[in-house]
Amino acid sequence: MTDPVMQPLPAMTEIGTSVPPQILLGNHLKALKLPTFAREYEKVAMEAAGSRTDYPGYLLRLCELERIDRERRMVERRIRLARFPHTKSFDTFDFAAQPSLNKPLVVELARCEWITTRSNIIALGPSGTGKTHVALALGLAACQKGHSVAFVTAAALVHELMEARDERRLRQLQKHLASVKLLILDELGYVPFTAVGSELLFEVLSQRYERGSTLITSNLPFDEWTSVFGSERLTGALLDRLTHHVHILEMNGDSYRLASSRKRQKHGHHPAQQEEVSPP
Ligand code: ADP
Ligand code: MG
Repeated sequence: MTDPVMQPLPAMTEIGTSVPPQILLGNHLKALKLPTFAREYEKVAMEAAGSRTDYPGYLLRLCELERIDRERRMVERRIRLARFPHTKSFDTFDFAAQPSLNKPLVVELARCEWITTRSNIIALGPSGTGKTHVALALGLAACQKGHSVAFVTAAALVHELMEARDERRLRQLQKHLASVKLLILDELGYVPFTAVGSELLFEVLSQRYERGSTLITSNLPFDEWTSVFGSERLTGALLDRLTHHVHILEMNGDSYRLASSRKRQKHGHHPAQQEEVSPP
């Protein structure tokens, strides 16, 4: 029997034929999934010659470039898979506008240790206080740190779960939801769920308990969550699991939307409001 390891590689059989080495190299680098090597090796070779870098130094530079690029591609892939509605980061978040938010805690959470320890975050506060912005920024930080993320509104997730159940692919969806490192559930509280919807969401969150992190944003304080889930027993069991290892972000300031539209109004930048402020 021939040893499969000793079989010549397909491209190797071409050695000795008239195929130019550049083409062969391109094929090998493609097969080895080293696109940055393929793109950069000539340029880096010229630089190496210019700076009298030795062969190991040349290879090292190419390896470094490939790893940097690969990391960037993986972060981009995680961001795509997370399905964020927009990309928001802490660079554009004005902490001074939200004094009720514990800035040192948020800065610490952006390091993503809480995901490694499978803790949860619950961000509470009225509409417009930046809960979704903070959730998106923490989600982005998680993608950058190498964690898989799924972002969805609570209402959309319940809808998806019901649809999956009707189409007999609930297990598949549950498996996916249980496997992501961070599940971000935005806007819990605006829409009450049906009994079936509540139970399906409860199941997802139970399956994640101590296995992965969940970040929930809600406009409702905990004592009003029963109005969303319908059942006191189920809400109690859910809060018990969620709050076992949790960081609570209180965001009780003014609405940023309202404040910024008032500011625009004051400075006459809002076309619709401008006339009210300074009538002709
Ligand atoms: P919520 O989810 O609490 O209703 P959002 O996060 O959607 O609020 O915030 C509403 C809008 O205001 C978004 O465009 C968000 O980026 C912006 N925003 C809210 N708070 C801040 C802040 N402190 N700094 C910068 N932008 C903010
Ligand atoms: Mg929101």
